[in-house]
Amino acid sequence: MSDLEQEPLFLIIDDEQAICDSCFAVFTKDGYKIEIAMDGKTGLEKVRELKPDIVLIDLKMPGIGGMEVLKEIRKIDPNMVPIIITGYATIESAVEAMKLGSFDYLPKPFTLNELRVITKRALERRKLLLEAESLRREKETMQEKFISMVSHQLRTPLVAVQEYLEVILGGMAGKVADEQKHMLERIKIRVSELLSLINDWLSFSRLDESKISQKFKPLEITSLLKEIVDFMQPIAQENEIVLEIAPTNNTFIVNGDKELLRELFTNLISNGINYNREKGKVKIALNEENSNIVVKVSDTGIGMSDTEIPFIFDEFYRVKSKEVQAITGTGLGLSIARRIVEAHQGSINVESKLGEGTTFIVSLPKGGENG
Ligand code: ADP
Repeated sequence: MSDLEQEPLFLIIDDEQAICDSCFAVFTKDGYKIEIAMDGKTGLEKVRELKPDIVLIDLKMPGIGGMEVLKEIRKIDPNMVPIIITGYATIESAVEAMKLGSFDYLPKPFTLNELRVITKRALERRKLLLEAESLRREKETMQEKFISMVSHQLRTPLVAVQEYLEVILGGMAGKVADEQKHMLERIKIRVSELLSLINDWLSFSRLDESKISQKFKPLEITSLLKEIVDFMQPIAQENEIVLEIAPTNNTFIVNGDKELLRELFTNLISNGINYNREKGKVKIALNEENSNIVVKVSDTGIGMSDTEIPFIFDEFYRVKSKEVQAITGTGLGLSIARRIVEAHQGSINVESKLGEGTTFIVSLPKGGENG
């Protein structure tokens, strides 16, 4: 790949000497580097070897034709920008070339000005593609860094806490009174739950969706939600928030991973508590709609404006209001929630009104015998 900022590299693949000569004259004059191949085979060799920015390809050439060259270029580097030039221009061939990834189509004969206009646009396209590629790489690196941060800075100290607890509970640091022992046992359970959650999330971040779904089992979701609500009740009470599940006699089964779904609903309920008002409410309701199990988590909290909603599922995004900034958070809960829902082939949506409250709607395909 050439350095686009400095000197873009053009490759002309055409068996017509006159075209090669005039392209050479124009591009050299404009300060670009240029390579020429007089047939498809040599052209593809140069594509592989030199990684040009823009490739101008003649459709009709002896041996490997322009369409074949286009197909190969897409496989070699989808960020390369190919342009078809031909003396046999038809609508059909233009459409086919575009489908195969040609950026544009230039019928012969063309003026030098037409050539300049088209290549200028192609260069802009190339620049955008390279920028997008570098952003994608940067994002991947950030994700990797984050995974390693979770692993080292969160998991490692928790493992140490667990080990100390074992020592204390085993009586190796002195006698432990029964009441203290009971509390320490509970701490131990919570720490190991947290550890398994972190481990799950780490493997979730590293695994692809198809592998996660191999672990899915039919799961009765009402009892899972009750467990979560029981676990979160003390935090709700501390904040004077009423936390409840709408009563139901039905059983709701989904195919899923229990710990990941626990993480999902814990995130939504804890947001409902965190972003609530004094003496507010968080309500969970379950329903079945069109072969989906729909869980709604509603709160009577601060709500969000329509302009914020499109971003709240992005990693690290937090609403920039004073109210939100006063509450601690990482901006990760909802992005994890969305990934978990997507891994379960479901959807997550939000309805919210500033100052009135928010409802998160999670829809998961119905599981069990028929699921
Ligand atoms: P965190 O809560 O750690 O900031 P999340 O990803 O869970 O991260 O949420 C992203 C942002 O979306 C929050 O910072 C908050 O601004 C907004 N938000 C999420 N849930 C609610 C809610 N129930 N009510 C109001 N705002 C919310």
